[in-house]
Amino acid sequence: MTELRIAIVGFGKIARDQHVGAIAAVPGARLAAVASRNASLPGVPHFATIEELLEKGPPIDAVSLCTPPQVRRAQAAAALAAGKHVMLEKPPGTGVAELDPLIAMAAEAKRTLFATWHSRYAPAVEPAREWLATRRITSVHISWKEDVRVWHPGQGWIWEPGGLGVFDPGINALSILTKILPRPVFVTAAELAFPANCQAPIAANLTLADISGLPVTAEFDFRQTGPQSWDIVVETVDGRMTLSGGGRRMAVDGRMLAEAPDEEYRELYRRFATLTVTGASDVDLAPLRLVADAFLIGKRTLVEPFVD
Ligand code: NAP
Repeated sequence: MTELRIAIVGFGKIARDQHVGAIAAVPGARLAAVASRNASLPGVPHFATIEELLEKGPPIDAVSLCTPPQVRRAQAAAALAAGKHVMLEKPPGTGVAELDPLIAMAAEAKRTLFATWHSRYAPAVEPAREWLATRRITSVHISWKEDVRVWHPGQGWIWEPGGLGVFDPGINALSILTKILPRPVFVTAAELAFPANCQAPIAANLTLADISGLPVTAEFDFRQTGPQSWDIVVETVDGRMTLSGGGRRMAVDGRMLAEAPDEEYRELYRRFATLTVTGASDVDLAPLRLVADAFLIGKRTLVEPFVD
């Protein structure tokens, strides 16, 4: 197997928590460099910017962009122009249309563009999709509530335009939803709560449907203290399926049917390595389109200012 030499760009929380370990665990993948303005990893060649990396760095085949979404489009374009495969953290962009030229560039250059949705690789997601495929679904409810101060300390970008606010985790739920349901869903109504000092919502309630009128509701809240919830409950004529822990556990009427250790990021890098063999791309924009539509049609309310 040819070695895949990867540079991580944007060495923040998710790069440290997941990407470094996942790259080390996937045969054939190797962390060859880090590009980050303020952070580095001992023993790994370091560059301040992606431009410096591409110009002066060691030979690499791919970049994994772990920067905030607001700066990733330009970084992806630079990497593709330099002939590198590109892995994008979620969300793939700050807008939907900005992905089109990147998809075209990747196809032209025969390089992989992989827009990752890590939650889709949670261990109970595929079993949930399979179980639902043959059932009549009567309703879906998502409850995705976490404490932003615990999970995103000091991440000012999340509150800026394009940072998505509570949709930063909420889009993970939508990535699972769009994977496990047999038919596409669309947003019919949304309520977005914006802190008076922020450009992105701290909470959101969505109503969605599919072509048959399936009722789907979603509650996203960044103000949750105490127990956190990353749960999707699907009512069917054959019982209630609960996907909990962000897709790690699946139960039907309380009976656990799937539960396994988290290997989301290893799975992402295995998939990335496979895609790069042929230069194929994998860019599914369905979750981002739902968020964009929530911003398009959502009612907005102002709530108290957020102080980190
Ligand atoms: P983060 O901790 O803020 O790390 C991002 C890093 O990117 C920063 O440490 C910073 O490093 C660099 N950066 C920030 N602004 C930049 C700019 N304007 N230009 C260039 N580089 C910049 O954020 P994160 O939590 O790792 O999240 C990054 C992405 O991963 C987000 O899209 C997020 O949705 C996704 N993600 C996060 C998690 C999580 O649990 N945190 C989970 C899954 C996915 P330097 O200052 O060193 O340049």
